[in-house]
Order: sequence, then structure tokens, then C-alpha cells
Amino acid sequence: MRLRNISGARDAIAESPLVVHEPESLKGRWQERFGNDHPIRIEIGMGKGKFIHELAGRNPRINYIGIEKYSSVLLRGLQKMEAEPCSNLLFIRMDAEEIGEIFAPEEVDRIYLNFSDPWPKDRHAKRRLPSREFLERYDKILKKDGVLEFKTDNRALFDFALEELPAAGWEALKVTFDLHHEEEMMRDNVMTEYEEKFSSQGNPIYKYIIKR
Ligand code: SAM
Repeated sequence: MRLRNISGARDAIAESPLVVHEPESLKGRWQERFGNDHPIRIEIGMGKGKFIHELAGRNPRINYIGIEKYSSVLLRGLQKMEAEPCSNLLFIRMDAEEIGEIFAPEEVDRIYLNFSDPWPKDRHAKRRLPSREFLERYDKILKKDGVLEFKTDNRALFDFALEELPAAGWEALKVTFDLHHEEEMMRDNVMTEYEEKFSSQGNPIYKYIIKR
């Protein structure tokens, strides 16, 4: 979802107090930054941020961090926050490949991946956010009993994500090939921008919840 460069996006982000500019300096100290001891949950590839912003509003006793690679996309999240601020939500602009530099072992309580880029060419498989290479990175920062939740409408990416689990030492707690018709898994579901778009076109939404 790389929008064309919005002019001034980098400047707006640089000036925003909602964006953490030197996130590596907070490694192991994120709760201090939030000023409480609430758990920390992160969304990687948050896009325009509808999902994480809505979660933060619903759950004031959980701290959320939205991670997005591109300034032009992150800017949209910031605009939303300015309209409806949440003290339990921060943003980082970074490539998730460096996630181990930002969080200490077991500092993260839950990880969300939503409609991650599919990178369809085999030679780009390592760039897929649910790949075994990324699962290894998540393994280092996620609490022992923490879970990762992944949603997508892309069947090939979902099949790939399921196949990666055993090699990376993870296992599925819940799997659905039609989230929107699973009453129990839909109970607390928060729709992302992509989920709204693709489900309204009749596409099934796939989801897993995994642990080590
Ligand atoms: N999660 C949103 C949703 O469901 O509506 C956005 C989905 S969009 C297809 C994927 C987003 O992930 C894009 O905004 C992209 O820039 C971001 N992204 C992809 N790879 C990333 C990475 N390695 N680190 C951080 N963000 C990434």
C-alpha cells in the first residue's frame, strides 16, 4: 500500500511527538515510556493504522505500538491520532527486519500482522512478514506465552505462512479459512482497512493465532 510520496510526510513525522524517533534507545524500557506496567502489543505493517487505533481505544490498559515502513503511509495514521488521541498508542517508522534492535527479549506481549505484503516471487520469500526468518525475529522479543495473530485474504500467502510454522518451531492454536463466518473468532475482531475492502468484495479472510 505504498502511497505516492505525500509531500512533507517526513517532516511531519519528524516533528510528531507520537512517533518514537530513536526507538533503539527504549529497548527494554518501553513500559517506562508509556508510564505504566501494562503489556505491550505491536502491529507490524500497520498501514494507515485503523486497526491499532481502534484496539487502543477499546483497551486503555494495554500499550500499543504501530510499526510502518513508509513515511507516506504512517502519516495517515498520525492524522487519525491527532483527531482522536490515545495515550496508549505510539508509532515507529522502521523496517521490521530490525525489530530485535528495538525490543528486549520477551518485552512484547502480542504481535499482529494484518494483510502483509505477499511478495509473490520465491526469491523474495524472506521478506514475507510470516516467513520463518521473521518468525525467528519475533521469537526473540515475544513473551514465552505470547501469541502472534495473522490475517490475510491471500490464500497463497496464508498457505505459505502455515507451512513455515513447524520449521520455525511455532504451532497453530487457531486456524480459520473463513474468519467472518467463525462466530467465536469474530467476537473481538477489529477490521483493518484491507479487511474492510476485501471482505466487502466477498473474499474470505484467513486467520491464524500461533504460539511456540
Ligand atoms: N495492515 C494494514 C491493513 O490490513 O489494512 C495495511 C496492509 S498493507 C498491504 C501492508 C503494510 O505493511 C504496508 O503499509 C507496508 O508498507 C507495510 N510493511 C511491509 N513490509 C514491512 C516491513 N518489513 N516493516 C514495516 N512495515 C512493512
